[in-house]
Amino acid sequence: MKFTQTTLKVGELATGQELNVPVYRLLAQDLSAPSVFIQANVHGAEVQGNAVIFQLMKQLEAMDVKGEVTLLPLANPLGINQKSGEFTLGRFDPITGVNWNREYLDHKVDVASWYQAHSHLDDRALIQAYRSLLIESCQSHLNSEWGVTTGKRLAVTLQSMAHAADIVIDLHTGPKSCKHMYCPEYDAASASYFSIPFTLVIPNDFGGAMDEAAFCPWWQLSEYAQSQGRALDVPISAFTLELASQERIDMDDALNDAQGILAYLSHRGVIDDRVEPARMPRFGCYLKDYKKFHAPTAGMVEYKAELGKPLAAGETLANILRLDLYGTDKELTALSLQQDCVPILHFASASVYQGTELYKVMTNLFEL
Ligand SMILES: [Zn+2]
Repeated sequence: MKFTQTTLKVGELATGQELNVPVYRLLAQDLSAPSVFIQANVHGAEVQGNAVIFQLMKQLEAMDVKGEVTLLPLANPLGINQKSGEFTLGRFDPITGVNWNREYLDHKVDVASWYQAHSHLDDRALIQAYRSLLIESCQSHLNSEWGVTTGKRLAVTLQSMAHAADIVIDLHTGPKSCKHMYCPEYDAASASYFSIPFTLVIPNDFGGAMDEAAFCPWWQLSEYAQSQGRALDVPISAFTLELASQERIDMDDALNDAQGILAYLSHRGVIDDRVEPARMPRFGCYLKDYKKFHAPTAGMVEYKAELGKPLAAGETLANILRLDLYGTDKELTALSLQQDCVPILHFASASVYQGTELYKVMTNLFEL
């Protein structure tokens, strides 16, 4: 079965050209199988997800796919084309400064009154009604008489499509990073299917990202239903995968990550083919134990700690070189942490201001 291609308009340039995102779709063969929405490259420099989508399409076209699959590579045309010199900026809307991945809509559903009005519905009808509410909320936001910002238009247009799916996967990368993923706590067992060694287990707090936009309203509904004595599992799964470093395309590695996604889709019954997850150690930590380390002084940085490898307390994380202080005890300073950790990502540049977010590290890890 071949993917069909359409385009999704997400904005317009000053000179009138449309900003379009390619949409690839396989229609459902079995309406009871879960549907899938995967997007890549909402942050302009984080291109590897496109390669993963390419490999996914090649694999899926040879498989027995039951559920609807919708793939959006190149999901942020403005961000991807936001170049400066050799680099792609593309993390923040250049007009407003807002992170492109913090623009998704918090519907602020009054879950208690909505549930009271709909509690007579069976699970299937209840889920359908709630899904319609979320999609209509996106549409009415986009059609506001006051308009919406460029970033909101992009995000909420994507979100509206994501709400139609049962499984939402947002493909990102870190700056310089090892592979890791964000997984909601209720779904932590699912992390064991992906080809990703480190998982951040996240709570039900909306911070503006796509994965949270997809699962938070459903988690709230599930919790409220439970408080009313009705068992309702969260029917939506949503993950953000961080596929190593930005400004990097690696086709072999993309195939590896596509296999991990297929293992999850196989487990969920989206595809009839059996795809086994990679055998590898997997570790997690709670989001509260994911620590940011900020540069205590400015300078030139030698990043010493290897990403994805345990670093004992007191071992050198990075060296800060200060040529303006040559001959003093500040000329070369080794930085270390007071607790054991696994460094997950570091800043992309080797020169930093004081206070730059230098490393992000996992602490208090556990085996998944
Ligand atoms: Zn990102």
